[in-house]
Amino acid sequence: MPGLTAMPANADHHKVVIVGAGAAGIATASSLIARDPSLDIALIDPAEVHYYQPGWTLVGAGVFKAPSTARTMASAIPRGVRWIKARVQGFDPSAQLVTLEGGRAISYEQLVVCPGLTLDWDAIDGLGETLGRNGVTSNYRYDLAPYTWELVQKLKQGRALFTQPPMPIKCAGAPQKALYLSCDHWLRSGRLGDVKASFFNAGAVLFGVPDYVPALMAYIDKYGVDLNYSHRLVAVDGPNQRATFVRTLADGSTETRAESFDLLHVVPPQVAPDFIRQSPLADAAGWVDVDPHTLRHRQFANIHALGDVANTSNAKTAAAARKQAPVVANNVLVALGRLTTLAQYDGYGSCPLTVERGKIVLAEFTYGGKVAPSFPRWLLDGRQPTRLAWLLKARVLPPLYWQGMLKGREWLARPQPLDAEGAQ
Ligand SMILES: Cc1cc2nc3c(=O)[nH]c(=O)nc-3n(C[C@H](O)[C@H](O)[C@H](O)COP(=O)(O)OP(=O)(O)OC[C@H]3O[C@@H](n4cnc5c(N)ncnc54)[C@H](O)[C@@H]3O)c2cc1C
Repeated sequence: MPGLTAMPANADHHKVVIVGAGAAGIATASSLIARDPSLDIALIDPAEVHYYQPGWTLVGAGVFKAPSTARTMASAIPRGVRWIKARVQGFDPSAQLVTLEGGRAISYEQLVVCPGLTLDWDAIDGLGETLGRNGVTSNYRYDLAPYTWELVQKLKQGRALFTQPPMPIKCAGAPQKALYLSCDHWLRSGRLGDVKASFFNAGAVLFGVPDYVPALMAYIDKYGVDLNYSHRLVAVDGPNQRATFVRTLADGSTETRAESFDLLHVVPPQVAPDFIRQSPLADAAGWVDVDPHTLRHRQFANIHALGDVANTSNAKTAAAARKQAPVVANNVLVALGRLTTLAQYDGYGSCPLTVERGKIVLAEFTYGGKVAPSFPRWLLDGRQPTRLAWLLKARVLPPLYWQGMLKGREWLARPQPLDAEGAQ
């Protein structure tokens, strides 16, 4: 058993400490409890509310009401798990301690790190002052997703700009989901000719897995979207409704371009949280440095990470966390000597691309962009827009999240044993 050396007299101790009670943290705690109800687990998170963020795209399209995506944190924390309502500030892996804001320390035998990522709104000049006003919105914030729907309904004519920052971001499809659902509303209400939509993508492709691109391109054409690659939003002048982009040209040089707008949907750049970036757990880019299969820290064997904060190359999605959590729970119990076989994560992530109200292109893939459908093709071909995938997103996935994933019921997420290929 790892020793508890250097534990300060005022440190509380828990066998397993989980940092962050988001999608990944709660799912991991529940998967641990499901395997060993007697385990001493503490979940540390300062938030009063737990959000189902995948629902925000549908809030921005008027399909869901925002409150249906939120529950009190107290109700989301699994029974038998101690909730420490505090913000983690730092890590001391050699002393097996996390420190909280205010200086209190918590010691652990096994540590699971999953505080998500930071939305870097301040990286875009002028954005902070105008978000939620002047036609500037974002589905990436609970309080602003309803404003997206309000703007989409009100816009009768003019220019609507949708932006996508450089990767990595959570749910890489979400910037274009907002675009398609807005265009669909303008098309159905006979306004698409008067409303002109543009997509400004910092990347060089519409979607990272080529199998799904033809179906998405068909919707770009159908909605007459003006599609721009290699354009990064750098500034917003809200009162004058002007957005400034830096465009990177083929030779690597850059030019600045300003565009007027009536509606601007912004997805901000996304970075590792500062307290992770500045900790011994981080890789050079700031994310927690784990083995992509076992999700164990490369340097500290009793530290594990999952969810958006991990430096694995999967799509940062709740769908990924759903598959990762049982793997981490299993591997924590192996480290505690209560199980014998390590489990592995295959890089699964999923992105339901809402191309119109009632239809979805369901992208599902593992490491390396390998297409990995959950259903047989005859039932649901994810490369085509289908009603079934919409029903899945709108009706099945929310209860699967709240009642399945967050409760330790590992539907479609049973962990696989580590094979020779995944072993390091
Ligand atoms: C608009 C939008 C659409 C999306 N669509 C989809 C989709 O269709 N499908 C899909 O699968 N995924 C989707 N996602 C992505 C998905 O929501 C995330 O990938 C998922 O929530 C990641 O889980 P996580 O636990 O890593 O982070 P989060 O769920 O963000 O939770 C992080 C938790 O850590 C806590 N925390 C932060 N800092 C600290 C600290 N210092 N100390 C303690 N706790 C801390 C936070 O309070 C929070 O509770 C979408 C996201 C957005 C924003």
